[in-house]
Amino acid sequence: MFAIDCPHHGARTLASTDDIRRYDNTDHGIVMEVECHCGGLVTITTGRNAPARELASCGAAA
Ligand SMILES: [Zn+2]
Repeated sequence: MFAIDCPHHGARTLASTDDIRRYDNTDHGIVMEVECHCGGLVTITTGRNAPARELASCGAAA
């Protein structure tokens, strides 16, 4: 289980790996499309190259 912020019903909710509809391993991290229990699709980016970590490492290097 992991938390997603669903803009479709406006709340943070829990999703399981069964809810992952698609994922791509990209240069920017793992981009996952997760189906919320409300039926909305939520795109999240995770993994070691996710944007938040990338910004953090850029800040540390600068
Ligand atoms: Zn939802």
